[in-house]
Amino acid sequence: LQGGFSLIQRETGFISGIVCVLHDITEQEKIERERRDFVSNVSHELRTPLTSMKSYLEALIDGAWQDPAIAPKFLQVTQEETDRMIRMISDLLNLSRMDASESTLALEYVNINRLFNHVLDRFDMMIQSADQFEKKYTIKREITNRQIWMEIDTDKMIQVFDNIMNNALKYSPEGGVINCSLKETHDNVIISITDEGMGIPKKDLPHIFDRFYRVDKARARSMGGTGLGLAISKEAIEKHNGKIWANSIEGEGTTFYILLPYVPYEEDDWE
Ligand code: ADP
Repeated sequence: LQGGFSLIQRETGFISGIVCVLHDITEQEKIERERRDFVSNVSHELRTPLTSMKSYLEALIDGAWQDPAIAPKFLQVTQEETDRMIRMISDLLNLSRMDASESTLALEYVNINRLFNHVLDRFDMMIQSADQFEKKYTIKREITNRQIWMEIDTDKMIQVFDNIMNNALKYSPEGGVINCSLKETHDNVIISITDEGMGIPKKDLPHIFDRFYRVDKARARSMGGTGLGLAISKEAIEKHNGKIWANSIEGEGTTFYILLPYVPYEEDDWE
């Protein structure tokens, strides 16, 4: 807390009052610290793939390019690192647009259960077309049949569902089941996605929606993650006045919840 006093002095010289101004600087400091951390995180995150690319390129220049056994592999690594940097930059652009409130939501009335089913259909298709080396998984659905029309930004919502589903797959064991549900209460819609994966340690759970936070950095990076997916999802859901959170038990699995405000329309509203 930061403050200042000023005395209110009359012409006669008598002090008639004291004005005391108090500012809460903890919030300001927090924002400033987050900004600094963010810049240092971005620099670090971009430096890592660049340094790794540099060393592979140096090895190639030093003669590895002539070795057919290793040259393609080294080139492949540099390509993967480039792809990851491109993904990170587009994620960062996405976030900064949402931060600046430049992006007002492109709201439209959408049948949310149809949209959720559509996203899950795409993931089901991916299993069918996966080759033998890719992970197998099963998606189970528990989605209300009632049509639930909500005003949402379709692209942003698809991006959130995609992020969470992709994580569920990424962190699931071979043959894992992913349970997806969509339920309505009297003024909310609750969507949940549960996996049977490795889970998230209790101490990390409060941070997973922070930018660049990863439970196991090396592992997440090797899976191509940017550490920004959940931060973007949180911004998007909060822009819809909703909430997103996770419960997890290590070694058993994780559930992500999305709660969106929903006002069921009455027949009368359409008259
Ligand atoms: P990333 O691109 O690394 O996946 P995210 O922002 O999507 O970044 O997720 C942040 C971190 O949260 C991940 O690195 C991972 O450690 C953890 N995480 C997210 N989803 C799951 C999940 N379903 N199971 C276990 N850990 C998860």
